[in-house]
Amino acid sequence: MHTSPLQAPLVMVGGGHAHLVALRQWIASGQQAPAGSLLINAQPYAWYSGMLPGLLAGRFAAAQCRIGLASLAAACGMQLICDELLALDANGQAILLASGKRIGFTRLSLNTGALPVINFATDGSLPLVGAKPFPGIVQQCRTWQALPPTHLAIVGGGAAGVELALALRISLPTTQLSLFCGNGLLASHPPRLAQLARIRLSEAAVKLHETLPIERISEARLYAAGRAVAQPDAVVLATGAAAADWQLASGLQCDERGFVRINSQLQSCSHAHIFATGDCASLPNTPHAGVYAVRQGPVLAHNLLAEDNGRQRQRYQPQPRALALLACGDGSALLSYGRLATQGRLAGKLKDWLDLRFMHAHQLATQDD
Ligand SMILES: Cc1cc2nc3c(=O)[nH]c(=O)nc-3n(C[C@H](O)[C@H](O)[C@H](O)COP(=O)(O)OP(=O)(O)OC[C@H]3O[C@@H](n4cnc5c(N)ncnc54)[C@H](O)[C@@H]3O)c2cc1C
Repeated sequence: MHTSPLQAPLVMVGGGHAHLVALRQWIASGQQAPAGSLLINAQPYAWYSGMLPGLLAGRFAAAQCRIGLASLAAACGMQLICDELLALDANGQAILLASGKRIGFTRLSLNTGALPVINFATDGSLPLVGAKPFPGIVQQCRTWQALPPTHLAIVGGGAAGVELALALRISLPTTQLSLFCGNGLLASHPPRLAQLARIRLSEAAVKLHETLPIERISEARLYAAGRAVAQPDAVVLATGAAAADWQLASGLQCDERGFVRINSQLQSCSHAHIFATGDCASLPNTPHAGVYAVRQGPVLAHNLLAEDNGRQRQRYQPQPRALALLACGDGSALLSYGRLATQGRLAGKLKDWLDLRFMHAHQLATQDD
């Protein structure tokens, strides 16, 4: 990549959770990014994953679940560029965007999330709908509501798979739904939460297949354990986080799955002027989940400006356990914290309160949509 004529002191790529919190923090404390700094995001909005199941289930409108980035950036003295980062040259300190623009940077911050994992072969005979990016699945769900499919398969037995299955049950009441888990349902959560989720899925007539990893898609059929196990109209991927290819090609030190290795100050382990947070980053004891990205935000806000402000950088310490709240689509939720697991309307109210509080704080910060 050649050095770009366009040069910015700070470039923040991705409107992920940590960047939203960092920008809001700067606004609240009256700080500005260095003049000429840029925020780059593929779309003009940041979508809030916690409310996506509620949006698909018809409990929220789209405008409640997304944050307009232009005014958030402007309030911090930054310009929003709606574009996609295609390549990063970490040594050359430059990025290449889908529009063909090349931008050089003094400091870069990545909060670009992750892609769905596709860990099976496919002949392309079935549409694959990723849980991310969110605008794609929201649009697809609207199309399905107009013309309901006979059968959808959801692949992935983690929190997102359970939430999507229960949300789709409400938006597509006549569609047969199957949920395939590579191992046990909610394997990284307490066994009691998995048991509560099994009951909810059964009540919602979602056919659950545990410990049945999908091996391939061929001639519009899903194969597992060497046999055809379903013939759906489409496959929804809730398969966890995969790293974008450009991360590994960037020259940044990455872990074995391609996520950017960072230190506790949220800097790349190989390039101190590049920061990474949220799902695109790799830090011990830090799962890929929005709640961890949110907690990185205040530390990132401080550290990105620490040098300019003549301050010491702060360290991010991941919380030892996090509250998990899984929306059931009807206003109730499954809850786990440590080994505790429960469910009900109260858990749903707590989830709504936390989610709406997060959105309200950002919308107030910018008085955006
Ligand atoms: C259905 C579902 C429900 C979930 N619910 C929860 C929950 O309740 N709690 C929880 O903790 N986690 C939840 N998660 C996980 C959560 O979504 C992720 O962990 C979280 O979004 C990661 O946030 P992030 O800050 O890394 O980036 P993201 O929120 O993924 O944001 C990344 C942003 O970067 C942009 N972007 C990506 N690539 C580029 C590029 N190349 N160039 C420019 N812009 C780019 C994207 O458009 C996006 O705006 C859920 C996930 C799903 C699928």
